Amino acid sequence: MTHPTCAACAEPAVYLDRAAGEHLCADHLTARVEATFRATLRGPGGLSGGERVAVAFSGGKDSSVLLHLLASLAAPELGLALVAVTVDEGIAGYRDETIAWARTLADRLGVEHRVIGFEEACGSDLDVLVRGREGRACTICGVLRRRLLQQAAHELGADRLATGHCLDDEAESVVMNWLRGDLYRVAGARPTGGESMVPRTKPLARLPEKEVVSYALLHDLAPELPECPYAHHALRSGIRGMVHRAERQSPGTLARIVAGQSELEARLRGLLPPADFSTCPDCGEPVLGGPCRACTLLGGALEKH
Ligand code: SF4
Repeated sequence: MTHPTCAACAEPAVYLDRAAGEHLCADHLTARVEATFRATLRGPGGLSGGERVAVAFSGGKDSSVLLHLLASLAAPELGLALVAVTVDEGIAGYRDETIAWARTLADRLGVEHRVIGFEEACGSDLDVLVRGREGRACTICGVLRRRLLQQAAHELGADRLATGHCLDDEAESVVMNWLRGDLYRVAGARPTGGESMVPRTKPLARLPEKEVVSYALLHDLAPELPECPYAHHALRSGIRGMVHRAERQSPGTLARIVAGQSELEARLRGLLPPADFSTCPDCGEPVLGGPCRACTLLGGALEKH
């Protein structure tokens, strides 16, 4: 059997882009990922020169690629100051190894690195917070992690919070918003303002996860790490299976879902009544009525650290 060769040169291929029906070698896959990253950074919601950027850095493949690209390409080209922020949720058998890797990579890239613990900020580790309600672990973890990252970015004086969401994450979020009947998110309305709200940027949002993971493997950014023991509880994991099946059957589905959502948001802009945002009575963050989800989960205001 002949080994497939790159569509752009005669080198052996390492990657198949099923949507385009073409193979790529390591160099051309690397060039494509870096070009898409640069184009996203320079597009709407990207970064400007001289900004201080907090990077949400879990130590997983996506955020490792994000930190690598920001440190090796964007920081020298745009004069960015980076600080990587890792949240230690306190998950036994999982987090210690990923945090050790996160420290190693931040050190290798010469990026300032902060680790914030659930125990210190929320009073308990995630393992304790979810006891007896393990099925909600990802909801609780996600709400608190997002808030801690926002607080950290604000306290570190960041202009932007960069996250490692890739195209697959974006498509899953679109489907999840529809399945939850979350009309305001379907319409693209988000709470804005708030004491510690640092605008987010998603430099990997146009890259399929398969390309991000392949890039990670090619560039020594993907050590063997344990999987979170709660991962199978996530609503997202069911949705991920669904959208990935659709992508396999009809390559390009992920990109079409995200493009369709952008089009919908553009057409709905200004047509819906404005969302009735107020502030959380406990912490002052913007919310659609009542206490915010973080304060509701913790039974009181999240401590500033
Ligand atoms: Fe948190 Fe769920 Fe991710 Fe585990 S899989 S780190 S519980 S969001």
